[in-house]
Amino acid sequence: MKRTTLILLSFMVCLASFGQGMSEPVLKPTRMHSFSLNRISLDDAEQIVADIVSTTGLKEKFLLREGRVKNIEASTKRKKQQIIYNPEFINNLQYAANSRWAVIALFAHEVGHHIKGHTHKKSGSRPHLELEADEFAGYVLQKMGASLEESTIVMQYIATYKGSKTHPGRSDRTTAIHNGWTRSNNEVVSANSDFKLVELNTRTSGTAN
Ligand SMILES: [Zn+2]
Repeated sequence: MKRTTLILLSFMVCLASFGQGMSEPVLKPTRMHSFSLNRISLDDAEQIVADIVSTTGLKEKFLLREGRVKNIEASTKRKKQQIIYNPEFINNLQYAANSRWAVIALFAHEVGHHIKGHTHKKSGSRPHLELEADEFAGYVLQKMGASLEESTIVMQYIATYKGSKTHPGRSDRTTAIHNGWTRSNNEVVSANSDFKLVELNTRTSGTAN
């Protein structure tokens, strides 16, 4: 069946010339297949980022702005950690993927650039840095309750099949999210096992006493 969303991935944006900026590839959904999800306002975006940050347990502050950027960018300006996004891009992504998780993953990726210190580097977007931010996004999305599929869907829309000088290909990026999600999930499993072990030991000692 023909997909109702036809995505034309155009060109890759490299902010290297600007320094201290991480940007994502551009996508151009030509048709939307669902309007059941509410449009994401600046307030919504701020809430998404606040949720991501609180999930990590950190107290980082980010300045979120709508702007005339091609897609979304994380950068540091006058010591302020900012994320500037094109509202059309964000909403097109949500509609195309028919999932808010796709947008949450993208914001988590940008937060990852900040938290991993990428925006202090002069190199701009580089494949290994992108994978670190993707891994972080997968880790956070698992904590926020997204399934593995919900966590990786974003890559169907923002990642090109083949990598570029700035961004890895879709398969590597999906794997990075997968790895982050699995690492987070293993922590949950491990914490649960520890709890059961403690519970069992307590019961055993209780019985012995
Ligand atoms: Zn990035």
